[in-house]
Amino acid sequence: MQRFDKKIWLSSPYIHKEERKFVNEAFDTNWMSTIGENIDKLEGAMCSYLGCKASVALASGTAALHLAVKLANVQHGDIVLCSDMTFAATVNPVSYERGIQVFIDCEKDTWNMNPTALEIALKKYGKKVKAVIVADLYGTPAKLDEISALCEKYNAVMIEDAAESLSATYKERQSGTFGKYNVVSFNGNKIITGTSGGMLLSDDEAAISKAKFLSTQAREPFPWYQHCELGYNYRMSNLIAGVARGQLLHLDQHKAMKKKIWQRYQNGLKDLPVQMNPFVEHSEPNYWLSCLTINKDSFGDGIGKATPEKIRLTLDKYNVESRPIWKPMHLQPLYADRDFITVGNDNVGEDIFTRGLCLPSDLNMTEEQQTVVIEIIKNCF
Ligand SMILES: *Cc1c(COP(=O)(O)O)cnc(C)c1O
Repeated sequence: MQRFDKKIWLSSPYIHKEERKFVNEAFDTNWMSTIGENIDKLEGAMCSYLGCKASVALASGTAALHLAVKLANVQHGDIVLCSDMTFAATVNPVSYERGIQVFIDCEKDTWNMNPTALEIALKKYGKKVKAVIVADLYGTPAKLDEISALCEKYNAVMIEDAAESLSATYKERQSGTFGKYNVVSFNGNKIITGTSGGMLLSDDEAAISKAKFLSTQAREPFPWYQHCELGYNYRMSNLIAGVARGQLLHLDQHKAMKKKIWQRYQNGLKDLPVQMNPFVEHSEPNYWLSCLTINKDSFGDGIGKATPEKIRLTLDKYNVESRPIWKPMHLQPLYADRDFITVGNDNVGEDIFTRGLCLPSDLNMTEEQQTVVIEIIKNCF
C-alpha cells in the first residue's frame, strides 16, 4: 500500500456553501463584531434543534464550561464531581473558580461516567458537592437519565459537556439538554464547526441572561462603564457564528456520514480481536469519532499481537492521523492530588486508555481511503 499524498485526518472541517454566504452577509452589512444577525440566528436555531429555551454563543466550549461552573456557584474549596476520562477542558474550569475536582471512573458500556461510582462519591462528599460535570465522550451519550436523577437526589447542579455529542440522543432526547447547564463546542474538529466557538444552553432564561452579562465584561446598565462583578470577554464573533450557522444546516447529514464511517470500521475490523467504542440501548450516538480497543488476550508485543501505539505509528507512516484515547484526568500530573472514585478496585478509564485508539473519522475521507486505512490496521495484527 502506498502512503497517502494528502493526509487523512482524525476529524477535519467539512464545509458547504451556506457558511460563505452567511459570512459574506456579515461583511456586506459591516456586522464585523460580537453582535449581529448570525449570532442571533445561530442561538435561535440551536435552541430549536435541541429543544431548549435559551442559549448564548461564546468564544469557545471552554468559556461556556467556565460560565456554567460560575452559574452553578462553585466557590473556593467546593467539590465538583467530574468525568475522569475526558479532555482537560471539561474539568479545568473548576480550577478557574478554585473548586476541587473529584474524578469519577467511566463504565465499560458507554465509556462515560459510571452512575454507581457517582453515587459513591455523592455519599462520600455529601453537602460539599456543588456540581457534577458529565461529558459524552466521542459522541456517545452517558446514562444521562440515571445521572440526572442522582444529581436531583443529592442536590447537585448537573452540567452536561456535550462538546463531542451534538445531535446524539438518549431515550429520544437530545444530548446537551440533560444538564441544568449544557455546553457545546464549534471547535474545528467537532461534528460541526465555526472554526472555533461554543455555546451555553439552559431552560433557565435568567441564568443565560446572566451568562451573557458575564461574557460581555459584566457591564452594568449605566451610560458609563460601571462594574459590580468580575466579567469576561467571552462572546462569539458574528463571522464565526456565520460559519456555525451554515454548518448547523448540515448537522444531520454529518451525523449520518459519521455513522457510516463507524459501521464500515465495525464491519471491516470484525475478524480482528478488537471492539468498537460501545453504546447502550436507547442511545443514538453522533459517532463523532470511531475508536477501537484491542481485546485483553490479544494485547501486547508478541506475534500476532498489536498495541494502540504500534497501530498509531504505522498509520502515521502512511500519512494517516489517529490518536490515543483521552488520558484519564486522575493520571494527569496536574491533578495528581485529586481523589478518584471507582467501583471496587476498577480502573476502567486506565484500561480503555491502555488498549484503545481513536481512528480517522474524517468526513472528507472517501470510502476507498477508509478501506485502505482498514487494511493498514489489519496488517498490524
Ligand atoms: C472540544 C471539547 C471541549 C472544549 O471545547 P473548545 O470549544 O475547544 O473550548 C470541551 N470538552 C470536550 C469533551 C471536548 O471534546
